[in-house]
Amino acid sequence: MNKVVIVGRPNVGKSTLFNRLVGKRLSIVHDMPGITRDALEAIVHWKDKSFWVVDTGGLLEDKDYIAQEIRKRVQELLNQASVILFMVDGKEGITHADRAVAELLYPYREKVFLVVNKMDVKKAKENLYDFYSLGFEKVYPISAQHGRGVGELLDDVVSML
Ligand code: GDP
Ligand code: MG
Repeated sequence: MNKVVIVGRPNVGKSTLFNRLVGKRLSIVHDMPGITRDALEAIVHWKDKSFWVVDTGGLLEDKDYIAQEIRKRVQELLNQASVILFMVDGKEGITHADRAVAELLYPYREKVFLVVNKMDVKKAKENLYDFYSLGFEKVYPISAQHGRGVGELLDDVVSML
């Protein structure tokens, strides 16, 4: 089955989106970065399609994510993915950590959707266009918390499967 992999630095809202897609609170949402320990996956049904969604939180948030084994696991997931959802925090704007993730994802850019989260916050609307400088063509402003933009995102995700 197709895999849709969510990546991004800590605290951008990966677990919140994962839970919204899955419709259950499987992933722990926390204000403190680094709380999700393991990569979590679950099946999502949208329109007439189904796919696995993977929250990579535990892999990229691990302090030792430079460690060989974890890097290998991340590369494996990125290779397997039909779509990669690269999440950033619209409220905070672009950070160094976002740029580091962008670099890691650049070889996969054809299947990367840049998801700008927290659009319910006013500051996020002001920051939105800066994110185009990360170099990804498909940009989706959403609010994982309120659900806005998530339907449009899913429509485009399943069109790639
Ligand atoms: P993760 O570390 O990337 O998995 O991020 P989490 O899902 O744990 O969320 C980190 C923080 O951002 C939590 O306090 C969430 O409540 C908050 N958050 C997540 N999505 C949104 C959103 O759409 N809007 C706002 N305002 N806050 C959000
Ligand atoms: Mg998380």
